[in-house]
Amino acid sequence: MNQTYSVSPIGFVRSCFKEKFAIPRQPSLAPAARGVLELVAPFDQGEAVQGLEHVSHVWLLFLFHEALEATPRLKVRPPRLGGNQAMGVFATRATHRPNGIGQSVVKLERVEPDRLWLSGIDLLDGTPVLDVKPYVPYADIIPEARNDMAAAAPELIPVAWGDAALQQARDHALRLNEPLVELIEQCLAQDPRPAYQQPAPDRRYGARFWDVDVRWHYPQAGQIRVLEVVLSES
Ligand code: SAM
Repeated sequence: MNQTYSVSPIGFVRSCFKEKFAIPRQPSLAPAARGVLELVAPFDQGEAVQGLEHVSHVWLLFLFHEALEATPRLKVRPPRLGGNQAMGVFATRATHRPNGIGQSVVKLERVEPDRLWLSGIDLLDGTPVLDVKPYVPYADIIPEARNDMAAAAPELIPVAWGDAALQQARDHALRLNEPLVELIEQCLAQDPRPAYQQPAPDRRYGARFWDVDVRWHYPQAGQIRVLEVVLSES
């Protein structure tokens, strides 16, 4: 039997992450990563979120809308395993997957009738959200759970700032009223490069957070230095 079902978003996320590169690989890794789930009709009148003020965290079910593929992959190469080891898609949290559905537990900062204010997100700007459910600690925390492929959070690497870059980040943080310095540090400390890429001190990397472009390099292996934080031109 070949049945299809259609789903439609209950809202869209306005996120600090404007491109996929440098988004943490799971939620909660960057608590300063903030965004807003803007609900669409008929979910935007307040009834659907009534009671959520009793909840600290929510599950978001969403579409990896920038990774959708017509033909499902059975094996993927998770960046976590260095990008060169294939694994069954159901053993990973890869974005390329059947039906393109992602799930994240995120912190619920504030509830308004037509929007949810979130932090600790790992979602790209514009992500369509299919459903929201309360996190239920007694059922969702499984003390004996294990995952031998991803036993602990990724190791962090130190993030250093050029003098000008830190001042630039502070100025933009004030303008945006966002914890931008913390956001940059938390995301870059995860080392966004694919694991197989060797450090080259003269190679520069960049990503866009909110409306600023952040550029950095690796002066030596295992160390990041932020070079500049400037208003994006696009
Ligand atoms: N926590 C989710 C899960 O387990 O289903 C997402 C895990 S996935 C490995 C996280 C990555 O998805 C992020 O680093 C980002 O690059 C990517 N991503 C986030 N939102 C996306 C979107 N809307 N479309 C495509 N890729 C997205």
